[in-house]
Amino acid sequence: MAKTNNATVTADKVVELRMKMTNDTGEVLDQTSDDEPLTYLHGHENLVPGLEAALEGHHAGDRVQVTVPPEDAYGDHDGSEPEAIPRADLPNDIELEPGMELEAELDDGSLEVVWITHIDGDQVYVDANHPLAGETLHFDVEVLSIRDGTSEEIVHGHPHPPDDSEHLH
Ligand code: ZN
Repeated sequence: MAKTNNATVTADKVVELRMKMTNDTGEVLDQTSDDEPLTYLHGHENLVPGLEAALEGHHAGDRVQVTVPPEDAYGDHDGSEPEAIPRADLPNDIELEPGMELEAELDDGSLEVVWITHIDGDQVYVDANHPLAGETLHFDVEVLSIRDGTSEEIVHGHPHPPDDSEHLH
């Protein structure tokens, strides 16, 4: 399998990673398990830009440790405070919980992605800042495997599992 071993992480490759993400204080924010690696399509903004750039050109078996500042991760915190939205104004068919991502309609009718920070009675507090905005992130990553993306995966912008017969999006 010399061909596979020589592959490098470049655009349109499907890459499997072992990944651990910590913040400045060493708190583990995200971590793959041994039987569930992170699989992503390189070059399609599936990872934060700083991590994707650090992985470019690496081979299977490489270990990559990189510190990514907020501007190359989830952006700076804009300083705004969470805003309250009445629970009744949000869809009642989904269970809301802190950390959940929502599309909220602004007064001008445009949609903005927001994250739920907390819920207090019938008020749901949302923040336009990503929960990791302003954080410097530390990644410790190992490249497990690299393969060519299929034409369908490249069009979709994400990898498909091997048994993906009914995939429609
Ligand atoms: Zn797809």
